[in-house]
Amino acid sequence: MTIRLPDFTLTAGPTPASPRTLAALGQPLIFDYDPIFLERFRELERKAARLFGTSSDVVLLQGEAVAGLEAVARSLTRPGTRALNLVSGVYAKWFGEWLRAFGAEVTEIEVPYDQALDPAAVERALSSADRVDLVSMVHCETPAGILNPVGEIAPLARAAGALVMADMVSSLGGHPARPDEWGIDIAVAAPQKCLAGPPGMTMLTVSDAAWDAMRANPQAPRHSFLSLLDWKERWIDGGREHFPYTPSVCDVGGVLAACDEVLEEGIDAVIARHERAARATRAGVMGLGLSLWPSTESIAANCVTAVRLPSGIDGARLLALVRERYGVMLSAGYGELADKLVRLGHMGPNASAMHPVVAVAALGRGLADLGHPVSIGAGVEAALAVAGEAWDR
Ligand SMILES: *Cc1c(COP(=O)(O)O)cnc(C)c1O
Repeated sequence: MTIRLPDFTLTAGPTPASPRTLAALGQPLIFDYDPIFLERFRELERKAARLFGTSSDVVLLQGEAVAGLEAVARSLTRPGTRALNLVSGVYAKWFGEWLRAFGAEVTEIEVPYDQALDPAAVERALSSADRVDLVSMVHCETPAGILNPVGEIAPLARAAGALVMADMVSSLGGHPARPDEWGIDIAVAAPQKCLAGPPGMTMLTVSDAAWDAMRANPQAPRHSFLSLLDWKERWIDGGREHFPYTPSVCDVGGVLAACDEVLEEGIDAVIARHERAARATRAGVMGLGLSLWPSTESIAANCVTAVRLPSGIDGARLLALVRERYGVMLSAGYGELADKLVRLGHMGPNASAMHPVVAVAALGRGLADLGHPVSIGAGVEAALAVAGEAWDR
């Protein structure tokens, strides 16, 4: 049996790319020191800085976001580094494991994974510690579909004298994400979520204070695929003429096209589109008679909607059925949330009027096929009502 491509990929990322981005990925594979490629790479750096609204250095690291996150953990950590890791989900947990592996003394504030971080709890922890070198957190916890109040927490951490790192992989393009304004030293993002680019690159902002900390860290990797300092010294400070290693020429063209599309539409308009798609999806899910995974709707993210699995429903079986019978690919839960929820993605081109309606209808029909009672008509109507309400495109 041959497996067909899905008609709709409404997942937690990678996100379907636009025809323009796909065409850019298929451009001639030129020499990385060709002047055209050098300028393309510099242009992508400038455009990524605009997306972040930052005047700090931007590093475009080859390798998916996990490579960037690990590079940050290694570059800032040595035995004795005191880190406060704020855990609200799977990715933050993972970051804490790296910090420990590279020698940091890690304190964690962990909330149940259906809740968001609480700035007051962070403030208490900061004031009772005698020194905190690094505070790390995830802006949008994609596995749980939850947004953390990073804009409130980061200034507290900076005021306490800590460096601040935020994983903005799935929030950039879907929510306001403002490293400079919020006091974030290192923000990590990636193209394959709300920006709708290809997976394979990490986009980081690095403040001067973070560079100083890396230079002072004898454990910070050098002459390594994970070295941020190599990029700083060879590429940025060397006049942007020499790469530490060959970037993926195809990826850079694709990511640039994806960033161009976001900037041309306008970052605020793109965020508003994600916000509406998320609201339509949540209305549809609740209209079906299901429960959202986040404990309250106000902390739900704009990138994916996590839906609690009704008891007795096997998530893997549900998703396979929805894909095979209705041609819609949805996402399972990830890590320890795997058997608790399913996720409907609405990022990039999927943050449109009708994609949420398709996701809600497919989820509802799949559950009904498995014998779970849902109100498909009510779910579809609720999603359509939000989709139609404010769509001025
Ligand atoms: C997607 C994502 C990453 C990168 O992880 P992959 O699953 O390898 O794509 C990291 N952090 C967050 C918050 C993400 O959403």
